[in-house]
Amino acid sequence: MILAVITLFTFAGIMLAYWYFGSEHYEVTGIPILNYHEVDNTFHTCLTMTPHDFSQQMQYLKDQGYHTITPAQLNDYLTKGTALPDKPVMITFDDGYVDNYTDAYPILKKYDMTGTIFIITSLVGKPGYLSWAQIKKMDKDNMAFGSHTITHRPLSELDENTVRQELTTSKQQIETQLGHSIHFIAYPEGKYNTMVERETKAAGYAGAFTVNAGRLHAGDDPYALNRVAIFEGNNSFTHFRIRLLLSTLCGYLWKWHAFFYTTLHLEKLASLIPQP
Ligand SMILES: [Zn+2]
Repeated sequence: MILAVITLFTFAGIMLAYWYFGSEHYEVTGIPILNYHEVDNTFHTCLTMTPHDFSQQMQYLKDQGYHTITPAQLNDYLTKGTALPDKPVMITFDDGYVDNYTDAYPILKKYDMTGTIFIITSLVGKPGYLSWAQIKKMDKDNMAFGSHTITHRPLSELDENTVRQELTTSKQQIETQLGHSIHFIAYPEGKYNTMVERETKAAGYAGAFTVNAGRLHAGDDPYALNRVAIFEGNNSFTHFRIRLLLSTLCGYLWKWHAFFYTTLHLEKLASLIPQP
């Protein structure tokens, strides 16, 4: 009994020290890739962050010594092991809403930060979405872009030929407009399977982001990269800090849940592990 208590406390102590001290060292606890959608005062959905709250979060990252990184820096780190700045963080936006230009971009500029926007190419220029002119302007000014496919249909639900088209055509369209290559894609709704991963690699992407919770580590499968979803809540700032700090833990919880559920088929045990 005493031994069990000592073991439990030792384990808890090690885990606590790991999160606390390790959170400063990205080689140990990974890189948080934050995932936002809309930033504006107009819509009030769970995917919308107010500019005030977004600004407060960016200020916090700046004050805490975080450095925003680009997809090119991330690609060099994953493929060549090129060192990143201290406390790296990547700010990503999905879908390519026009408020990313009108609201989020000026805030990022103010704090001298960079963001990455994953665009749905068939929606570019449509009401509520970014135009190619806005995309090109931001691309020349410290922002970066990636694909979120042509139509935003979940790739795991499409046939292989359609998946190939969604991946290659969206990549070509963006690269033609920007005049340079892009490295990453964010899967619509975070959905993928082994076929999708294979086709993404074949289409020439260096990596792909999911909405699986957790941080990014050097040895991860580059076609199933974790992110930390940031949603607006009643107490957005506290929520944001908890999610950022505990994103390493969330990654482990997610992996354990999947291991118990999918590999060991112990559904009861898996249900005891919260899915972040
Ligand atoms: Zn999306």
